[in-house]
Amino acid sequence: SNRITEIECLVPDIAGIARGKITPAKKYLREESIRLPESLFGQTVTGDWPEDDVYEKIVDPAERDMHVAPDPGTVRFVPWAHEPTAQIIHDCYYQDMTPVPYAPRQLLKRVLQAYEEEGWRPVVAPELEFFLTEVNKDPDNPLEPPTGRSGRKETARKSFGIDAVNEFDPLFEQMYDFCEAQELEIDTLIHEEGAAQMEINFQHGDALDLCDQVFLFKRTVRETAILHKCYATFMAKPMEEEPGSAMHVHQSVISLKSQQNIFTNEDGSPSDRFRWFIGGQQKYLNAAIPFFAPNVNSYRRLAPGYSAPINSHWAEDNRTVGLRVPGSDGANRRIEHRVSGADVNPYIAVAAMLATGLLGIREQVEPSAAIEGSAHHLPHALPRTIEEGFRYLDACESLVELMHPRFVELYKAVKMAEHAEFQQVISSWEREFLLLNV
Ligand code: GLU
Ligand code: MG
Ligand code: MG
Repeated sequence: SNRITEIECLVPDIAGIARGKITPAKKYLREESIRLPESLFGQTVTGDWPEDDVYEKIVDPAERDMHVAPDPGTVRFVPWAHEPTAQIIHDCYYQDMTPVPYAPRQLLKRVLQAYEEEGWRPVVAPELEFFLTEVNKDPDNPLEPPTGRSGRKETARKSFGIDAVNEFDPLFEQMYDFCEAQELEIDTLIHEEGAAQMEINFQHGDALDLCDQVFLFKRTVRETAILHKCYATFMAKPMEEEPGSAMHVHQSVISLKSQQNIFTNEDGSPSDRFRWFIGGQQKYLNAAIPFFAPNVNSYRRLAPGYSAPINSHWAEDNRTVGLRVPGSDGANRRIEHRVSGADVNPYIAVAAMLATGLLGIREQVEPSAAIEGSAHHLPHALPRTIEEGFRYLDACESLVELMHPRFVELYKAVKMAEHAEFQQVISSWEREFLLLNV
């Protein structure tokens, strides 16, 4: 029968990876309260806590055990499981039912709450790029695309190549089946510019739901690829001679009362709020960069040459800027935020985008003039490292306040610990060029 026998209690961690527990369904239903240690939010990608004393300093001893509660709207099948299994995304609370500030999903809910207080609701549509690669078990080896028709720099690129996508048909068919079983609403799939680089577009909708979908989709593609003996990676810049992978997000805001797009006036012209939203996203871009470029590797993507932004300019229909306004009618007027890599935690990145837009409206920040031509000919103005980004963020009280000071404190500790770890690595480039030459 189809009776569910197992339940996966999922909690998205700081990196956007699923953590939690798997429980027999019977036990799950009996359980009064499911607990997880709050420390799961303090782990770096290598699985460590930054330092014991950071933990002591940041996390209140009274709050170290979280109560996790299911979000009933997120019950889904796990289509690749061997036994009938359901997955449910859980939210984190303390014993007194106050939300855990470090939980990325709670962070996004807080920002959405701030919109609701204004009588608004954001609408988003993420676009997610990723690479398929050969299985690679040795981190010293560069990644290789699965052999085939997808093209490399030295051959022909296959942007929008249909045959190159079809080559991966069995994989994508299964991926679509898995998505359907989980009600992930995928709009289109295209071949991107890179070798075996793909892009998936989601249908637009509620921000929390879309972030859940991205979170589950990444897991789904990784699982499917492994079943087809390759890897799917959401690293921002997995290969040196290939483009990076982005998570673009189209954003608009609806008035709860009129159900109209607040970016458009009644006569169809762009509204003040539209301009201010862009102004805020420009003004706070450097301060929010740690949320859009969370890893050492993320900053390698933010370079000229591959349609990734290097500064905070905006423009109409121009793929070199970080803030692009696609051509549309008034009802669909929106801003495509192009700064995030595919390696972001969707909840955190979308919370930061929406927070900076909201600050712009609140403060009536005028944007710079829209540019014409390539933004890559204008100076590189984004922070080059997360450390530099945090210096902007530290100086930016209103954004820290909206993202929650305790979340920001923990996020910074985790990310700076990863950054420091990377600084210890002596790379092959250094050995190759410095060994006998200095
Ligand atoms: N892959 C590019 C990036 O890293 C984006 C390409 C596009 O315009 O879709 O930002
Ligand atoms: Mg793309
Ligand atoms: Mg796009």
